[in-house]
Amino acid sequence: MHPLYQSMPVSVFERMSLAAARHGAVNLGQGFPDFGWPPEILDHAARALTDGSNQYAPSRGLPALRQAVADHYARHHGWDVGADGICVTSGATEALAAAIFAVVEPGDEVIVLTPAYDAYAPLIRRAGGAVVEVPLDPPHWRIDRAALEAAITLRTRAIVLNNPQNPTGRLFDPEELNAVAAAAEAHDLIVIADEVWEHLLLAPPPSGAVASRSDDGGAEAFTPFATLPNMAARTIKTGSAGKIFSLTGWKIGWIAAAPKLAALAAKAHQFLTFTSAPNLQAACAFGLAEGDCWLAPMRASFTRARDRMTAGLEAAGFAVLPSAATYFLIVDLAASGIALDDEAFAKLAVEQAGVAVVPVSAFSDSGEPRHFVRLCFAKQDPTIDQGVAAMAKARALAC
Ligand code: PMP
Ligand code: GLN
Repeated sequence: MHPLYQSMPVSVFERMSLAAARHGAVNLGQGFPDFGWPPEILDHAARALTDGSNQYAPSRGLPALRQAVADHYARHHGWDVGADGICVTSGATEALAAAIFAVVEPGDEVIVLTPAYDAYAPLIRRAGGAVVEVPLDPPHWRIDRAALEAAITLRTRAIVLNNPQNPTGRLFDPEELNAVAAAAEAHDLIVIADEVWEHLLLAPPPSGAVASRSDDGGAEAFTPFATLPNMAARTIKTGSAGKIFSLTGWKIGWIAAAPKLAALAAKAHQFLTFTSAPNLQAACAFGLAEGDCWLAPMRASFTRARDRMTAGLEAAGFAVLPSAATYFLIVDLAASGIALDDEAFAKLAVEQAGVAVVPVSAFSDSGEPRHFVRLCFAKQDPTIDQGVAAMAKARALAC
C-alpha cells in the first residue's frame, strides 16, 4: 500500500464515537455537552437562516462577529486586539490549521506539550514540519521549563500551547506561562495559543483540592497568552464559539492575533474553507454582544457535572485526577488497581461495559503514558449516572 494511506491516523474521537454507536454505549469519549446552550442563540440562528443572508460571508468573517469577538476580549481581559486582529474560521480546528500553515515551513520544528489535542501533530507534519514532543509529567502535568528549553533547537519555529489544557484539565499557572514566554522571546518563536477552553473554568471541588480558586469559579485565573509582556506580536490565539456556547457542532471559531499575524493566518484560511456559515456567525455575534450573563451559570452547571462524575467514579473505586477546566477528567487506571493499559481498558469498556472513553496515549506520538483514560463529564445527570455505572462494570471485568 502507498505510504500515504498510513500517513494520517484516524482521529481517536471518530474511533471512539463510532465504537460507542456500534455497541450502543454511553459516549463519554468525544468532548461535547448534552445540555447548556442558550436558547436565545438558537432562535437568533433560526431567524438568521430564514431572514438573513445565506450566501458567502466575507472571508475574514462577518464584521459584526469580528467586532463582537474583539469587544469580548477587551471586556474580559483588557486585551485590545481589535476587529483587525480577528479572522473567523470553521471551528478552532480550522483556526489551528490556518495558523500552522501560515507559520510552519518545511524543515521547521514545532514543540507540542503532550498529551495534546490530536489535530496538532498531523497538521504540523502536513505543513512539512517536525513535531517535537515535550511531555507533561503525570499526575500534575506541569510544564517543565528545563525540558522545554532542552527541546528547542535552531530549527524550532513555534510552540503550541493549549491552555486550559485538553485532555488534562489543567489551567497552567503564571510560572509555567512565563517559562513558555521566556523561551519564545529568547528563541524568537511563534506561540500558537489554543485557548478554546478559556471560559470552561470550573470552581474548586468540594474538597478544595484544586488550587485556582476565585469567587466566580476561576474566571480571573485565566490569562490569555497574548497579554503576557512582549507576547502580543508573537502569539496566534485560537478561540471557539462551539465551546463558549456549548454548541460544538456549529464549528464557528476564530484566530485572534496582532493585525500582521492575523492577516497572515487569514491568507491560509482563504484556501482552507474561505468562510463559514453566515447565519451561525450572525447568531454567535448576537450571543457575544448580548453580554456575558450566561458564563457563570455555564461554569456552575459544568462544575456540578464534574463533581457528580468524580464522586460516582471514586465511589466505584476509581482514582480521579483533579480537573480545573475543560469538559474532561482523567482516571488513573494503575492507581485504580487496573493492570490493563488504556487502549485495552477503553476497548473492554465500550465493547463489554457500555461506555466509551478516550485512551490518553492517543494524545501523543510517543504513546506514553498508557495508564490514563479521559472522560467527558459535560452531561446531564442520567447520562453521568449511566456512564459511571458502566465504568464500575468495566472495573469489575478488568480487575
Ligand atoms: N483545540 C482543543 C484543545 C480542543 O479541545 C478542541 C475541541 N474540543 C478544538 C481545538 C477544536 O475546536 P472546534 O470544535 O471549534 O474546532
Ligand atoms: N475536541 C473534542 C475533544 O477533545 C473533539 C473534537 C473532535 O471530535 N475533533 O473531545
